[in-house]
Amino acid sequence: MQLCDKTDNPEIIVECLRILCNLGRNPQIQKLLILEGIIDKLLDYISSDIEEEILGYSIGLLINLSTNKQAYEEIKGEKLNKIIELLKKSDFENLELTKNIVKIFSNIYITSGNIQWTTIQRDEINQAITNIGSECDSCLDVANEEEKNILNDLHSVIKIFINFIAESTLQKEKGFLCPVKGCGRKFESKSEMESHFSRRHKN
Ligand SMILES: [Zn+2]
Repeated sequence: MQLCDKTDNPEIIVECLRILCNLGRNPQIQKLLILEGIIDKLLDYISSDIEEEILGYSIGLLINLSTNKQAYEEIKGEKLNKIIELLKKSDFENLELTKNIVKIFSNIYITSGNIQWTTIQRDEINQAITNIGSECDSCLDVANEEEKNILNDLHSVIKIFINFIAESTLQKEKGFLCPVKGCGRKFESKSEMESHFSRRHKN
């Protein structure tokens, strides 16, 4: 990882990222990489004009890391915008990449059970993924065998994600009620409710 910082040579960066991608499947190593600040580095890569291979491996590593709860803590807030921008730009010229970007979001979602996004972020993600979904449907008829496989993959990732969004929106409307009798406070997220609970009701 330090080597990535020290060099501008794209071939070396690609090699480093390839190694990190392999190592990044291990949860212990994920933690270490996140602690070392790899997420910022990767977000820098994906939001700058870099070679396709570096982009591909950066996204690959983000996919692995996004299965780790700690990663979400790093990505949430402003930084999420960098991935959203990429999602908005993604198209069918690079199907595999598009699928992988969507996968980061569904991983974050599955891992954390909730993405603390702003309304704008949520709408942008929702819009972008819906667009990709409908484009995905219309491409299916003209796709070749290989493209079809990727499209089907993409389709199932999108489906998981859209279900999650629908579920969370519903849950948000319903709210999370404090379980203490007579308290009656309601919260948008489970974690907000839980922190209220330990603040107010735990001595
Ligand atoms: Zn309460």
